[in-house]
Parts: sequence; C-alpha cells; structure tokens
Amino acid sequence: MKRLKGFWAMLMVLLVTIIGFSSAKAGTLDKIKQRGYMIVGVKYDFKPFGFVNEKGEVVGFDIDLVKYIAKKLGTKVKLVQVTSKTRIPMLESGSVDLVAASMTHKRKRDLPIDFTISYYFDGQAILARSDCKAKSYKDFAGKRVAAIQGATSGPNFKKVQPKAKIVYFQEYPQALMALMKGKVDAITTDYTWCATQAKDSHGKLKVIGEPFTYEPYGMGVRENDSDFRDAVNFAIQDAVLDGTYAKIYKKWFGKEPTRLPEVWPK
Ligand code: GLU
Repeated sequence: MKRLKGFWAMLMVLLVTIIGFSSAKAGTLDKIKQRGYMIVGVKYDFKPFGFVNEKGEVVGFDIDLVKYIAKKLGTKVKLVQVTSKTRIPMLESGSVDLVAASMTHKRKRDLPIDFTISYYFDGQAILARSDCKAKSYKDFAGKRVAAIQGATSGPNFKKVQPKAKIVYFQEYPQALMALMKGKVDAITTDYTWCATQAKDSHGKLKVIGEPFTYEPYGMGVRENDSDFRDAVNFAIQDAVLDGTYAKIYKKWFGKEPTRLPEVWPK
C-alpha cells in the first residue's frame, strides 16, 4: 500500500513537471508564429497614440510602432480596442498578446504583468476651457476634475490636490464632452493628449501649468513571457537604430524626439 502511494505521488510530480515545462515552452512568441498574427490591444480614444481617424481607421504612434514590431517578428497584426481600465485584465486573460496603449510603466502595474522598455516619456497635465483662470493644480481645490478609470491620472491628481473632486469616466471622449458642456472644470491626464486636444479645439481649450508627474510608457506583456518580451524590446530598439522611431515620432508629434528609448549594445 505504501509503495503504491509513493508511485502515485511520483507520477503526480512527473505530470506537474511535464505540464509546467510544456506551458513555459509554448510562450506567446511561438503562439503568434503558429497563428500567423499577433493580437494587440490599442486605444481608440487617445490621440495621437491610438485613435480612429476621419476614414474610420485605427491609427497613431502606438499603432505605427506595433506595425513595425510585427514586421520585425515576421507576423501580421490584429488590433483590438482596450481602455485604460480593460488593458491589463485583457492581457492577463489572453484576449490580447501585447498592450500598446499609452500605458505608464508603474511598479504596481508590473506585479500582475511585465513591461517592455519605456518607449515614450510624458508627464501629467491639465486641460481646461480657455476662460479658466487657474494657473496650476493648486487652483483646483473644490473643483470638478475629470479622469479616466484605470488611468494613473485620478489618483495622481488627488495626491497633489486632495481637495479636488475627481469625476471618473470610462473613456476620453465622454470626459471631453463633459468639459465642453461645463459639467467638469478640467480633465487631467498626460500632457501630449491634453496638448493635442487644445490644438484640435481651435482656441476653445488650453493646457494649464506644467506637467507634474513622470509617465514613462511601456508596452504590456504577460508575466514570465521573456522570449516574447525580448523580441518586442529588440524590435523597439531596432526602430531607434534604423531611424523608424524618429520618423514616426515626427509624424505624430511634429518634432524630433526629445528622448529616445534605451538601446542595448549588440
Ligand atoms: N499614461 C497614463 C496611464 O497609463 C494615462 C493615459 C491613459 O489613460 O492611458 O494611466
């Protein structure tokens, strides 16, 4: 009897080892190669990183970078919409292989998933109507400030201005509508989005004050999926080395990059 128990225990250990080994082997990189395309979660509401243009196409800085990465990996791309709130759960559940969605690499976010190297560097700002008298976040005590669920912006703003009333929205266009209609006094999120909205508004909106946080963007990959993470990191660095990064940066931000992603020697 004792011997039999020992046999079953040994068999279980062996099975668990085999299963563990084979699932570790079949990483995302292999899956993408078998499938013939990679599924990437991108924003549809965050110009100029990921948004829907007048022709109904999903375009932007994140999308161009993803297309380059796919080319380097020798595969095609399928884009799937994510929001600030859904991007990490969708990666964890396997609905997407990669998240390229204006996502700040925070230590807290690095617990459930992994991140690539940082590929864009921003900071949080405030967007308000042009008649707004405020000079910085200091002037928003008691004011209604919109933020998006799942974004860093709401909690960040609360830290610098605990007296503000944060009003949460699911997506950026809803917050923009609320700002235009006077239902909130401002929107807080990354500077580049705020500046783009101010420019597109033809004088109706403006950016207030200087960026007051550090928001380095990284792409999200699943935890412990290092072959895939390496491949994406190398592709981002190749884009820097061959000038593609600067080209798409100029295309979407209208200037030379102020800071390049790190490049490891070969
Ligand atoms: N970069 C910030 C974040 O990751 C704000 C932009 C966004 O909502 O994606 O939360």
